[in-house]
Amino acid sequence: MKIGYPQEAEEFRTHVRSIIASNLPKDFRGVGAMDKSQGDQFIKNWRSILHQNGLLAVSWPKKYGGSDLTPLEQVVLMEECTKFGVPTGGPNDVFSIQMIGNTILVLGSEQQKEYFLPRILSGEDVWCQGYSEPNAGSDLGNISTRAFLDGDDWVIDGQKVWTSYGHLANWIFAVARTDPDAPKHRGLTFMLVPMDQDGVEVRPIRMLSGDSEFNEVFLTHARTSKENIIGQVNEGWGVAMTLLGFERGEAAATFPIRFMEELRKLIELAKLEGTNQDPHIRQRLAKCFSLAEIMRFLGYRSLTRYLAGSQPGPESSIFKIYWSEYHQGVTNLAMDILGAKAMTPGHKNGPISFPTDFSGSANSASNWYDVFLKARSGTIYAGTSQVQRNIIGEQILGLPREPKVDTGPWSQTRRS
Ligand SMILES: Cc1cc2nc3c(=O)[nH]c(=O)nc-3n(C[C@H](O)[C@H](O)[C@H](O)COP(=O)(O)OP(=O)(O)OC[C@H]3O[C@@H](n4cnc5c(N)ncnc54)[C@H](O)[C@@H]3O)c2cc1C
Repeated sequence: MKIGYPQEAEEFRTHVRSIIASNLPKDFRGVGAMDKSQGDQFIKNWRSILHQNGLLAVSWPKKYGGSDLTPLEQVVLMEECTKFGVPTGGPNDVFSIQMIGNTILVLGSEQQKEYFLPRILSGEDVWCQGYSEPNAGSDLGNISTRAFLDGDDWVIDGQKVWTSYGHLANWIFAVARTDPDAPKHRGLTFMLVPMDQDGVEVRPIRMLSGDSEFNEVFLTHARTSKENIIGQVNEGWGVAMTLLGFERGEAAATFPIRFMEELRKLIELAKLEGTNQDPHIRQRLAKCFSLAEIMRFLGYRSLTRYLAGSQPGPESSIFKIYWSEYHQGVTNLAMDILGAKAMTPGHKNGPISFPTDFSGSANSASNWYDVFLKARSGTIYAGTSQVQRNIIGEQILGLPREPKVDTGPWSQTRRS
């Protein structure tokens, strides 16, 4: 089925194309074709070109640095950037723009919007996510990082873990317990904490892939101004859930475009390797194509909702399960297409993540191997597949809720 866009969206496409054409080096073959430092530098410069042209957060209001456009233009932008193999932002923008930026936009005070949003887009502030703790992952309500007011500041003590790109950030958004005697989901406050201070220590964790993209973050009498909270004191749970909606669902309409391009590269790879003649490989490629097409239409459904003004809600969980499980399947297939070559150690490229958005050539075994490894974590971060199924069961299908055993004061029911 061919879906057409309105005239304004096509005009925007022409505008984006001309910006890409006039800024992309003639010999550009994708970030995947560069070494890590060149790749990092390219992404940094490219992000700044997008920013100068109002293309980093196109649907944000102009007064905060956006372009006052709609999620449809965001889709068009993604289509064009994917076609040219260029990123739509930097490695922390998923936290800075997609998560905290959008949350500030819908729930922040006017003062917070005016202060934080332009700084996010200019790159002056770079954010990371401080939700998970050693005893609070799926059970996020069990957070034990504590915060209390000391004059005009919150003082925060605790430990966050799995903090992706925390080593690149200068701000962390964190959920902290401000009333231990309230039930576990009620005594939490959503805080914005500067990381450039003695009370914040970031320690890298080495991953399966050999990279150290995530970290432990230790908060020891860390301080933030008492104004730096979103929403009300002890009402941070709702804010945290709004942000998770953006984390799981905001990209519903744009991700499928990247996945389709990744699949196109995989088909190219199968041809190069000669495995496109193998009936089993052909069958699996065809299945991936059907799944990617279904994802694209799920994306259009979300886009229709966003254009009507709704925010991502529990239905984001459907998308979260769908893409993360699809991605494990498609990268398993990539390994089978490459066979022993998949184990070829390659140079580590720039921050290639899921999908192979920035990889230069279809036959780079090290790129596919990297993406294969990273895809393992897709069914864990942003909430595991099991937890998404609980959300779908309880909040969408209206099935009976899991029995709750810890409804009393958190201080008496805490799990440690
Ligand atoms: C690559 C990566 C990046 C991450 N980045 C960040 C980040 O930047 N910031 C951040 O705050 N966190 C981050 N995380 C952490 C992530 O959000 C948690 O790992 C995730 O929420 C799961 O929590 P957990 O690891 O504590 O597992 P647990 O909650 O201990 O779960 C263990 C297992 O039990 C299952 N389980 C738990 N509860 C239930 C239930 N009620 N019903 C059914 N099954 C259940 C889970 O599905 C899982 O299989 C990241 C994780 C990864 C892998």
